[in-house]
Amino acid sequence: MALIVQKYGGTSVADADCLRNVARIIADTYKKGDDVVVVVSAQGDTTDDLIAKAKEITGSPQKRELDVLLSAGETMSSALLAMAVQALGCPAVSLQGWQAGFQTSSAYGSARIKTIQTERLKVELGRKNVVIVAGFQGICRYDDITTFGRGGSDTTAVALAAALHADRCQFYKDVEGVYTCDPRKVKGAQRLSEITYDEMLELATLGAQVLNNRAVEMAKKYNVELEVLSSYARNPGTIVKEVTTMEKMLVRGVTKDTDTARISVVGVADIPGVAFKIFSKLAAKDINVDIILQSVGRDNTKDISFTVSRAHAGEAVGILEAMDLTAGLPLVCDTQVAKISVVGAGMETHPGTASKMFEALYGADINIQMISTSEIKISVLIEQAQADRAVAAVHNAFFPEG
Ligand code: ADP
Ligand code: ASP
Ligand code: MG
Repeated sequence: MALIVQKYGGTSVADADCLRNVARIIADTYKKGDDVVVVVSAQGDTTDDLIAKAKEITGSPQKRELDVLLSAGETMSSALLAMAVQALGCPAVSLQGWQAGFQTSSAYGSARIKTIQTERLKVELGRKNVVIVAGFQGICRYDDITTFGRGGSDTTAVALAAALHADRCQFYKDVEGVYTCDPRKVKGAQRLSEITYDEMLELATLGAQVLNNRAVEMAKKYNVELEVLSSYARNPGTIVKEVTTMEKMLVRGVTKDTDTARISVVGVADIPGVAFKIFSKLAAKDINVDIILQSVGRDNTKDISFTVSRAHAGEAVGILEAMDLTAGLPLVCDTQVAKISVVGAGMETHPGTASKMFEALYGADINIQMISTSEIKISVLIEQAQADRAVAAVHNAFFPEG
C-alpha cells in the first residue's frame, strides 16, 4: 500500500463535470488500496474573481481580510470535491489548511509554512478516508488564516508529500506534462519525460506556469519526486527529480515572461559606488532586480539599466527619482518588454547555445535589448509585441518541427 498525494489545479476542477472527472481518478487510485491525500485549488478563475470583489470595495484591501476571502476559494472546491468523491462510493473528508495542520508565518498573502502537524491527517487516513486538503492556506500564530501567494497550492502538495513521506506526489493538469514550451501556445512543443529540479525551477521562475517555483524549490530541498500528468488522458507525464538520464538534450525549454519592466538610468556619474547606491536602496525596499546592464563610461558618465517585476516598477522609479542621480535627465521605464529564456543543464558543457538563440532572433528580425546568462539559462529582453514570434523562432531553432 502506497501513500499518494495528488494535486488538482483550478482548470481541472473548474465545474461540476471537471470535479466528477477528477473524483473518478481519485476513486480509482483509492480502490487500488492506496492512501490518497488530495490538494485542490480554487475552481477556474475564482481567485481572480475574489480579488476583483475585494477591489470593488477598496483599492487597498487589508491583507488579513484578503487572505480570509481568498482562502474561501480553495475551501469551497475542497468541499465540492469531497462530495464528488463520496458520490462514487468512496469515503472522503475535506480539510481546510488549519485542520490539515499547516502552521505558517504571519506574512498574509505570502505566508511561509513553518510546520505541518500531521496528526489529524493521519487519523483521517487511518479511518480510510480520502483526505482532501484546501490548497494554499494555513494558520499563523495569531490564529489567523494565511495564504501562500499565487500558485501556492502546488506548495501545499509538496509540503504534504514531504511531511507524510508520500510515495508519490502527482500534479494533474490540463496538459500532459512539462513541455519544451507552452503546448497551448507553441506548435511543436514536445513533452519531456524527465527534467531535473534545477531546470524545472528555472523554467517555472522564467515563466512556465506549469509548476510553481516555490513548490519546485521545496521539492528539491526535501527530495520529493514530482510527477506532472494529465487529468484527461491517462498517458505518461513528466517526472521532476534530481538526476535525469536525458543527458543528450542541450536545452529543455523556452519560456516567456511578460511580468517585467526595464528601467534605464541615463547619464549617472562614472565613479565608484553608483551601482552600490542604486541597488542597495532598491534591496532595502525588497525590490528584486533581475537583468542588469551597465554601459562603458564616456565623458565621465555611464548608463545603468535593469529589470524589475511590473509590480515594482513604479516604486523603483520613485526611489531613483528621489536619489537624483542623473542631473535632471529623465529616467526611462519601459513596461512593453518581455523576457525570453532558454533553459537546460546541457548548455553548461556545450558551447553555442547563446549564438543559436541569437541567430534565431536575428532571423526573425527581433532586436535584443539586454542579455543575461547563468550556467543553465540564457535570457534576453525584447519588445513585448515581438514576444510570441520570438518564442516560436527560438523554440524552432532548438526543436525543429517535423
Ligand atoms: P494548474 O494546476 O495551475 O491549474 P494548469 O492545469 O492550468 O495548472 O496547467 C498549467 C498550464 O501551464 C497549461 O495549461 C499550459 O498552458 C501552461 N504552460 C506554460 N508553460 C508550459 C510548459 N512548458 N509545459 C506545460 N505547460 C505549460
Ligand atoms: N487559487 C490560488 C491561485 O489562483 C492558488 C492556487 O491555485 O495554487 O493563485
Ligand atoms: Mg490552471
